[in-house]
Amino acid sequence: NQLHYLAHFDSLTGAANRRLFEDRCKQSIETAKRYDSCLALLSIDIDHFKKINDTLGHDGGDDFLIELVSRFQRSVRKEDTIARLGGDEFAILLPNVSGQDGAEVVARNILESITKPVTIKGNELIITSSIGITLCPEDASSYEALLKNADMAMYRAKNNGRNNIQFYCEDMNSEMIRQIEIEKDLRVALKEQQFSLHYQPIVDTKSGEIIALEALTRWNHPEKGVIMPDEFINIADQTGLLQQIGEWSINQLCAECKILSEQHVQELPIAFNLTRRQYNHPRLLQMLSDACETHRFNPKQLILELSENTLVQVGDDALKILRKLKSFGCLIAIDGFGTGSSSLNQLNALPIDIIKIDRSLVTSCLTNKQHRIILETLLTIAKQLGIKTFASGVETPAQEAFLQKNKCHYVQGFLYSQALSIGPLIDFLAKTDTQEGLHSGDQ
Ligand code: GH3
Ligand code: MG
Repeated sequence: NQLHYLAHFDSLTGAANRRLFEDRCKQSIETAKRYDSCLALLSIDIDHFKKINDTLGHDGGDDFLIELVSRFQRSVRKEDTIARLGGDEFAILLPNVSGQDGAEVVARNILESITKPVTIKGNELIITSSIGITLCPEDASSYEALLKNADMAMYRAKNNGRNNIQFYCEDMNSEMIRQIEIEKDLRVALKEQQFSLHYQPIVDTKSGEIIALEALTRWNHPEKGVIMPDEFINIADQTGLLQQIGEWSINQLCAECKILSEQHVQELPIAFNLTRRQYNHPRLLQMLSDACETHRFNPKQLILELSENTLVQVGDDALKILRKLKSFGCLIAIDGFGTGSSSLNQLNALPIDIIKIDRSLVTSCLTNKQHRIILETLLTIAKQLGIKTFASGVETPAQEAFLQKNKCHYVQGFLYSQALSIGPLIDFLAKTDTQEGLHSGDQ
């Protein structure tokens, strides 16, 4: 009996294992075919489960997994199969559901049951999960295809910000293939050093002088040409490859700044973007200080751009990292301000030097009255709190005039210059040195 149990069930949680799950699914698919009924397969992955292990230990994580399975059992019917496929990854088979609506009701119950507070080692936690659903026979009729579909839908739920449910749809397949291709190419790109840095000038609205640069990573793909960060940063981030790309970029940035100063161009601060994952990486400070030391780069010249969502994460840890970065010498800018879950209270509570207004607000400030009011208000509040403001995506003299009138400190956009690689940048800086400043489309 014991051997039979071990062969079919997960020893930690008592849920079915992959083998038993496969068997049950295959049987149910046959039954569904025969009786013209519908079955659903759910793929569930816990959000940020590593954090539970990191903070409460592996045994704390185990306690949570055991509790989770008993919650699942209370949310589904006896005939449904709950399986643990690995780590924090679960699958549930609903052998008889009334189509998409029926499956969604069950999935919502499960999502809610996971989110109810749980007490582990005396700590009350709220944990969320991402759920993908696929239906048989609508989406596929083989176990392998259904499991793949449910996984793809689950990944979409993760990408949509986690804590949500997604149904499989056909475009996920092509999107997944595209992502896998990019991931594969990124690994080659790292080996073959296909990345380069471009720098976009940041201009003082009053004097028109270039007062800083923003470093932007470009991927020079041998077949597809230059690929912009929007197209690969998220995938690189999710697959952990961004850590290496970031390390390369920061070293390159320090080395190229050395060339800039050797060419007798003024020493300009450089803004560098960090994703939430990079920000939370335990080696972040070490990596930055190694790069600065190797290239004798002054950390005071570094402006780290963090998204609102990175700073919104509650807890002392996020604040601790921020303080460490500040005491290392870096300036901190909030990127894309006004588009995420902006908290005005945060502006006051966190040691932030600059807020960067999102380009979407700049683009529409003259055509959309509400956006104009939001932008004016943000600029006024920042000014009163003594925080510098920086608007990106400035493309027209009218936008520039509006920002000048509202006392925005710095601007960046195609009106002044696009991002340039180091050679053209040196020429550009030398040329603007001899002019009075960059205003209204000098480029
Ligand atoms: P995401 O939101 O992207 O899912 O983040 P995550 O932290 O949940 O990461 P992911 O699902 O990729 O990793 C699951 C982690 O679960 C990895 C591993 O450290 C941990 N883990 C795997 N097996 C066990 C186990 O048996 N017990 C415990 N406590 N943890 C496990
Ligand atoms: Mg997980």
